[in-house]
Amino acid sequence: MKGKYFIADQEDIDKKLASDVYFSRTIPFVEQNDGKAITAEITASSDEIINFTGVQEILNLLEGKNISLRTLPEGTVIRSRDSAGIPIPFVIIEGIYESIMEYETSLLGFICQSSGISTQSSKFFQEIYPKEFVSFGIRRMHPAISPMIDRAAFIGGASGVSGILGGELTDTIPVGTMPHSIAIIMGEEKAWEYVYNNSPKGKRTLLIDTFGDEKIKALEIAEKFPETDYIRLDTHSTRRGNFASIVREVRWELDLRGHSRIKIMVSGGLKLDQISELKKAGAELFGVGTSIASAKPIDFAMDIVQVEKKPISKKGKYSGSKDVLKCRECDNVRVVPKGIPLQCHGPMKSVMVEVLHEGKKVMEPETAKEIRARSVEMALKLIQARIE
Ligand SMILES: [Zn+2]
Repeated sequence: MKGKYFIADQEDIDKKLASDVYFSRTIPFVEQNDGKAITAEITASSDEIINFTGVQEILNLLEGKNISLRTLPEGTVIRSRDSAGIPIPFVIIEGIYESIMEYETSLLGFICQSSGISTQSSKFFQEIYPKEFVSFGIRRMHPAISPMIDRAAFIGGASGVSGILGGELTDTIPVGTMPHSIAIIMGEEKAWEYVYNNSPKGKRTLLIDTFGDEKIKALEIAEKFPETDYIRLDTHSTRRGNFASIVREVRWELDLRGHSRIKIMVSGGLKLDQISELKKAGAELFGVGTSIASAKPIDFAMDIVQVEKKPISKKGKYSGSKDVLKCRECDNVRVVPKGIPLQCHGPMKSVMVEVLHEGKKVMEPETAKEIRARSVEMALKLIQARIE
């Protein structure tokens, strides 16, 4: 391996070096098949609602190879099985097997991890909405993948990301408050003053838990820096007791003294099941780190379902080229053999998009903001369905 860090760089991935060796070892054997065209599909083994991301990296990997790809659009929020229990093909790949097989490891890796993160981010979005959260988790993962983590967290519903490269990739101004360290090095009040005077209006966020009690420090800030937008509680776990109660008490004392405009931000190891309680207590902005960045990958697998025109697959998998149809009226989703129409409330429409045709990109890539808009709209429908 070359380089200082233990990473596969872009060239390694393109050269198929970040792949499992069993593909390259068997390729001379497969080449004896005289270039059989196959259809392979990627389905998830689990049955869960997935926020699907990672497609753009697959596209970048396979562009220029003689391969065609149909996928669900990135940011699609969908159960991994249709209403009849058939696994949904998230990606359908067509081409000569030898030109596909050595990419399997990388293309699964792209979507498994990214979709795991965007799925977890979408769960936080649904729990936190209509309040907002920002992605703070890149420090817990390998720096080489920090832009991907931030992008997936953003698409899932984070309203901002903390990484510089993540900001670039999502075309957002990266968000941050103040590190504890500057309060320790420069003195807490001086640190507050610096951040207060050097943050844009609407973003002035002061960290209040470095040394003192949250309530006392919140009131001190309210007195000295009344135009503060957020006070951030990142209280250490050894001091937390009941974190929601601390938030509730701080909110009460601020309101009592006429500082209702100062909002409360919380962070520090936040888990999904803590959100509802913290929201009720008065938290208005959430900094979520490890819970999203280290999300469990989605267990997507790639399987051949057709060789030449003949449906064939290993046991446990559904053979044949397929399409995914959706009813516009009731959102019913069904997997069908390709070309077979189905009625629900009217004719069901395909939700799969051809993104690569014999190696050529079919359309301009969407921006992270466009993809996030789709993802958030679909997540809001889930929230709505839960309320009804
Ligand atoms: Zn319907």
